[in-house]
Amino acid sequence: MKIREMQDEILRLKKEKGVCILAHTYQSNDILEIADYTGDSFGLSVKAQDVPEERVLMCGVRFMAETVKLLSPQKHVYLANSGAICPLAEQADKELVLALRKKYPDYCFVVYVNSTAETKAVCDVCVTSSSAVKIVKNIENPNIFFLPDCNLGTWVKQQVPEKNIMMMNGGCPTHLRVTADDVKAARAAHPGALVLMHPECRPEVVKEADYIGSTTGIISYAEQSDNREFIIGTENSVLTHLQMSAPEKRFYPLSKDCVCHNMQLTTLADIYNMLQYGAEEIVMPDDLIRDAVRCVNEMLRLGE
Ligand code: SF4
Repeated sequence: MKIREMQDEILRLKKEKGVCILAHTYQSNDILEIADYTGDSFGLSVKAQDVPEERVLMCGVRFMAETVKLLSPQKHVYLANSGAICPLAEQADKELVLALRKKYPDYCFVVYVNSTAETKAVCDVCVTSSSAVKIVKNIENPNIFFLPDCNLGTWVKQQVPEKNIMMMNGGCPTHLRVTADDVKAARAAHPGALVLMHPECRPEVVKEADYIGSTTGIISYAEQSDNREFIIGTENSVLTHLQMSAPEKRFYPLSKDCVCHNMQLTTLADIYNMLQYGAEEIVMPDDLIRDAVRCVNEMLRLGE
């Protein structure tokens, strides 16, 4: 089957079987083209609450499908490729958090949305990369334990110096590959370009950026800016999407190594197979959903 034929077949099957397809921005273009909705993980989870379909397929990594399930527990949520996990999310498990809570009983435990439902369930409040600064500012407790990404945590700490922020030494293996030398080389090669970067990059790299923000923030900034050239410091699939949405502008990768292999695992054939034969459904006990949703709801309350 050719790509176009498989896409047509997917479009026919998803309508016939009543499946809504969500695709994270880091997915490949052939998947984004057949998705009902595309975007960042939390935005997609919120969107899934309103779709009429009872069956939702997440094209992304496991914690993203879990977050969809947390916000829409009555729906059947499927993960397109069971092997697609987020190595960052796996770095802080429930046992580690419980041990840290015992050691630091006076701290508010803030967890990045890139975490498992089990980890969210034992934390106080969750954050996205775009809401982290605001949420941490709004937490009453002056003592914050931030996990699992210490680079995002360090960036938040710089914006909220009035808080006492501790963090664990975790990080996204994709964004950790970007170095300060990459910034120097990219600026030298493209002197007129603005450097847009995700706060999951190392602090010594982030401080060289012209703009720091979430993937959605980077895309909006590049689309709306009057500048014509940009160096993109996040997962490299974003470059392709930007080239499609703003073909008159030029986009360069900050590092050719900024590729998330887990996000690239899902293929068009996985989606086709799910629609034909089924895929892994995300199933969680009610008490886990209740506790993890409390952590997400606290983010919504503090973010208002
Ligand atoms: S880019 Fe990093 S944080 Fe995002 S899914 Fe991949 S490993 Fe996880």
